[in-house]
Amino acid sequence: MSEAYDLVVIGGGSGGVRAARMAASYGARTAIIEEFRVGGTCVIRGCVPKKLYVYASRFNELFDIASSFGWQVDASFDWPTLVAAKEKEISRLEHAYTTNLENPGVEVIKDRAVVTGPNGVHLVRANRELQARHILVATGGQPIVPDIPGAELAITSNEVFDLPRLPHSILIAGGGYIAVEFATIFAGLGVNTSIVYRGDCVMRGFDDDLRRGLEAGLQERGIRLIYQTTIKSLVQQGDDIAATFSDGVTAPFGAVMFAVGRRPNVEGLGLETADVELTAGGAIAVDEYSRSSCPSIYAVGDVTGRAALTPVAIREGWYFAETVFNNNPIAVDHSLIPTAVFSEPELGAIGLTEAEAATHGDIDVYIARFRPMMNSLSTRTERMILKLITEADGGKVLGCHILGPGAGEMIQLVAIPMSMGASKADFDRAIAVHPTAAEELVTFKGPTYVYRDGAKV
Ligand code: NDP
Repeated sequence: MSEAYDLVVIGGGSGGVRAARMAASYGARTAIIEEFRVGGTCVIRGCVPKKLYVYASRFNELFDIASSFGWQVDASFDWPTLVAAKEKEISRLEHAYTTNLENPGVEVIKDRAVVTGPNGVHLVRANRELQARHILVATGGQPIVPDIPGAELAITSNEVFDLPRLPHSILIAGGGYIAVEFATIFAGLGVNTSIVYRGDCVMRGFDDDLRRGLEAGLQERGIRLIYQTTIKSLVQQGDDIAATFSDGVTAPFGAVMFAVGRRPNVEGLGLETADVELTAGGAIAVDEYSRSSCPSIYAVGDVTGRAALTPVAIREGWYFAETVFNNNPIAVDHSLIPTAVFSEPELGAIGLTEAEAATHGDIDVYIARFRPMMNSLSTRTERMILKLITEADGGKVLGCHILGPGAGEMIQLVAIPMSMGASKADFDRAIAVHPTAAEELVTFKGPTYVYRDGAKV
């Protein structure tokens, strides 16, 4: 016999949890099905533990410059202590997420779900059938593992948080978010760290000045960058893993990690039973209201292949519930998404890069480069970068790019005026807070350079 719900959510991550809570608060009989741990990638093996590990790794640099402020520090690091502390916090959050679901009346089911038709869901472990007026697929994504000999010897972001011991060295494949974040985490924890990337500079798609600044920062922290190279094979060599590269070189590493992107979790979900169409990239194709080609089935978050970012998934889940259960159709605007890379140095960005903006008409570019004040007593020479790109003659702000301490926090606040369509004059009207790094954004006098008719002047 099947049980009837207004909404069955498949996947207890950021998007699914928000949608389920909101739908239940609007009176929908809601169940959420999760086969692993409630909280999803972000809470269990993504953003949250990553940020905790970032904090752990940053002590190293603080100890480093502490002597310039008169401190003497004799520090050592214990990996199992960090892993255990992380696990305690993640378990607390998992419990809080579950409570937050149950409070408005969501039924939390730990099982594997398979869609059996436009309104049917089968629970694999319980061998139970559910009937749903609406189904929301919020199954997220998983790390891509290249199909090369020995790939099973490598780890991904799924395993990295719980390694039994800290490796003496690590090779990280990829040049995106996860690669640079974990490279700086491991380097900060004292691991000899290398990145192997197929391109010629990390963080493709970000503003070039910041990419080069980040690259210099990674190198300053001793991270080796191996460009225009991929891994061809891996073999076990004693306690190490020997990696053979596309240029024929072979070298041993204590651990190898793939961070070469993620793919949507759609396999074995039974989506074909409801004629749910996929995009060319294997994600669930949805309209602006997150509705799939099957009218009763919606999808939010990474499984839709839009922006693979937790706050975006949360917004999509919320707006789905508004649209379907609160008679308030509302579409997420994906056009202006702030983002931060919690590498060292940290990177924050919103809007157009210089290269993108230069193709959109006449623009002005304002750049400030300076040593963060925190380093001014030390011998560290690294520079922070703040960059503002506006329409010509101080018009609308088109892009803001920040590299250095606090970049993520700053870009979140810059997102407010930019979402309101702020101009350079609006930024200038704000009174500076001194001494801060962010004050540069409101004290730019003239542009550093401009583009007129597509040419840099
Ligand atoms: P990214 O898309 O950020 O980066 C993937 C990297 O792998 C790119 O450098 C890409 O190269 C490279 N790559 C892709 N395919 C291959 C291949 N076949 N061989 C070699 N290299 C390859 O993915 P991540 O895995 O780092 O992270 C996944 C997503 O998770 C991110 O895009 C982001 O949306 C999200 N995330 C967000 C974070 C945050 O907000 N701070 C933190 C971590 C993840 P190329 O550039 O040439 O395409």
